[in-house]
Amino acid sequence: MTKIPACFSETYAEARAKFLSAAKAAGATLETHEHPAKGPGGETLATDVARIGPADAKSVIALGAGTHGVEGYCGSGLQIALLETGFADRLPEGSALVLIHAINPFGFAWSRRVNEDNVDLNRNFIDHDAPYPENPGYEELKDVINLPDLEPGTIKQAQEKLLAYAEKNGFPALQYAMSAGQYAHPGGVQFGGNGPTWSHLTLKDIVRKHFAPAERIVFIDLHTGLGPRGHGEIISTAAPDSPTYKRMTDLWGNEVLSTKAEGSVSSNVAGSITDFLAEELDGKALAACGLEFGTLPITEVSFALQADNWLWQNGGAENPRAQEVGAIIRGAFYIDEDDWKEEVFKRAEEVAVKGLKGLE
Ligand SMILES: [Zn+2]
Repeated sequence: MTKIPACFSETYAEARAKFLSAAKAAGATLETHEHPAKGPGGETLATDVARIGPADAKSVIALGAGTHGVEGYCGSGLQIALLETGFADRLPEGSALVLIHAINPFGFAWSRRVNEDNVDLNRNFIDHDAPYPENPGYEELKDVINLPDLEPGTIKQAQEKLLAYAEKNGFPALQYAMSAGQYAHPGGVQFGGNGPTWSHLTLKDIVRKHFAPAERIVFIDLHTGLGPRGHGEIISTAAPDSPTYKRMTDLWGNEVLSTKAEGSVSSNVAGSITDFLAEELDGKALAACGLEFGTLPITEVSFALQADNWLWQNGGAENPRAQEVGAIIRGAFYIDEDDWKEEVFKRAEEVAVKGLKGLE
């Protein structure tokens, strides 16, 4: 019997080694996209792809981990647990499983949600030649979202201003301001980038190689940080009247929540990977979702992002508070407790198994 909590790791380096070993044991073909930077221990950073099933499969189910760096602690554990519990044996004849480990390896290794350029990768898949979406709420709040220091008085004052904004404009407006991305402040929280990042270009290569030759693609991008502890919400960035959304509800029923309608834990964000897949794989039978697992209350998660951004604008790993802030952000996106790991695995497995119907 696979011990599920043992599939999760303490560091990126451990996660990568375990993933590669579980993939080899499951008979996967492996490919490595090495990142130009190194990890905190000088280790290689890479996006690794494990594929099980024929190279010319017409049906592909894929799971992505670590789009948001530090969220990879969860996603990696889930991918390894799926490999070790024999998920690949459940694939319909002739179809393939593709696991993409550490889509943003720098963020994973250095415990950041963003990448080496301070970019939120899930806001980066946008047309960088067109005018960027505006985020007036962010502009209004930028001096309190981006903390000048981490003194208790500064934090308290900032939180009061954010709350006052929510009271005036509604909580969803605050969440939008803080999470929907911005393209004007490269050193600020929630920067979406001013061009395609390394992870963006790497994922594009992977998608063209592994998904484009198929006709039916199911993609589950594993995320953490929103929603009740341990709960796994299936998020679609497709509009509720689109064919992609219809395919998703065929697989997962009314549990699918669109960011373009009410009810999702996520804001309606631009530049996500699932939007990119819908565009890149237009005309194919695609069901692409985010599977978002709850960790801590949203106020704590938001503060973790603010503290992390402050740290990396002030020396990053060289800052004397690096350990402390690193633990805050890691704790906001990964619950290092066995019951949480068991619960998120059960849910991920359920969603992946239901996704297999999309391969037929
Ligand atoms: Zn995420």
